[in-house]
Amino acid sequence: MRIVVQKFGGTSVATAEAREKVVEKIAAAQEQGFQTVVVVSAMGRKGEPYATDTLIELAHSVCPGISAREMDQIMCCGEIISAVIMAGTLQAAGIDALMLTGGQAGIVTDHNFNNARIQKVEPSRLLYLLKTGKTPVVCGFQGTTTDDEFTTLGRGGSDTTASALGAALNAQMVEIYTDVDGIMTADPRIVNNAKILDMISYGEVCQLAQQGAKVIHPRAVEIAMQKNIPLIVKSTFSDMPGTLITNLSKEDTDGIYVADRVATGVTYMNHIAQIRVSLGDNVACDAAFKVFKAMSDHKISVDLINVLPDWVMFTIPQDLAETATKILEKNGFQVEAVLNCAKVSVVGGGMREVPGVMASFVEALAQHRIPIMQTVDSNASISVLVKQSDLAQAVTALHEQFGLASV
Ligand code: ADP
Ligand code: MG
Repeated sequence: MRIVVQKFGGTSVATAEAREKVVEKIAAAQEQGFQTVVVVSAMGRKGEPYATDTLIELAHSVCPGISAREMDQIMCCGEIISAVIMAGTLQAAGIDALMLTGGQAGIVTDHNFNNARIQKVEPSRLLYLLKTGKTPVVCGFQGTTTDDEFTTLGRGGSDTTASALGAALNAQMVEIYTDVDGIMTADPRIVNNAKILDMISYGEVCQLAQQGAKVIHPRAVEIAMQKNIPLIVKSTFSDMPGTLITNLSKEDTDGIYVADRVATGVTYMNHIAQIRVSLGDNVACDAAFKVFKAMSDHKISVDLINVLPDWVMFTIPQDLAETATKILEKNGFQVEAVLNCAKVSVVGGGMREVPGVMASFVEALAQHRIPIMQTVDSNASISVLVKQSDLAQAVTALHEQFGLASV
């Protein structure tokens, strides 16, 4: 069997016109001899009646602290509605489709409600359906535990569903259909001359996704990478070829080893708070440990970490700033939380050991008088913390500086 998994995001299933495009994409794959497994997200974005955010607001309106388990039950509804509507649309077009929940499609997760991890995929039911000529339409973003509790996989989790099914079914490829023509050198909502990348390595796209490019979920990339299944990110609304994510070699790319690019893209995360902890009289070898232990005990994950002899600095999501401050003050530390920050990163598989990358990065920001609040770098990325109000200008300046508008 030649299987393709086709995942359609929120905007791709939001309207009747969009769903007609989805039918065309599925029919085209089947005409090419593929057996297709369809994965769908909830319909539409914030403010629309069946979007995940709308369901979250509904639950919060009756109880702001509603339990994570109940929250997952309502969050699963968005994909269930979407999958039924998509299966119906396919049936109306003469395709023998049927909807399945994540659990019915064999996705088994742990009990970590709201952010569950897929433990295994049991593909026998899907394989049987494909053999009998059916087109399964699977609810993205959800699974069930071994004791039949519904769980959700965290934001962007439908991408993970698609990759996990692709891996379990040994698919030829996994197609991620969205509202942009592929993975771009920057978020097109911020940089108007961002370019589509024809190809990108698993490693680079993982970095881009981890540093905030919401176009694909990093976990989805990791799963596809483990099984070496090609991922293609493309638009539901055009016939452009999209971006191929794969393990690239020089031969595949006409001698240009794209993972060697110094810069592949610029990405960002916003709504970040910088936490500055003065260790004060607490200056002892274990003071920094106490700070991080307190955060981890409260399941607050920290980023952009700097430890100095009498200071510790790190960033957290802004909505946790008040809680984190209280916890640290209780532990006897003086804390300052700087709100409304954003992290801007340049990602490139080939930036390691290339002299001058940092200088170039800092130059771009200096030219626009954008103050840098903190920096961090890895083999394949450099990130800075800036004020949220400087975000768009910083992303645009770095995109220009690294020549990304002309890739
Ligand atoms: P879907 O609902 O289809 O999963 P998402 O909103 O999750 O769609 O992802 C697509 C969006 O990701 C695009 O509309 C775009 O604004 C945003 N995006 C952010 N960074 C990038 C990037 N580097 N390349 C392409 N799109 C990006
Ligand atoms: Mg998405």
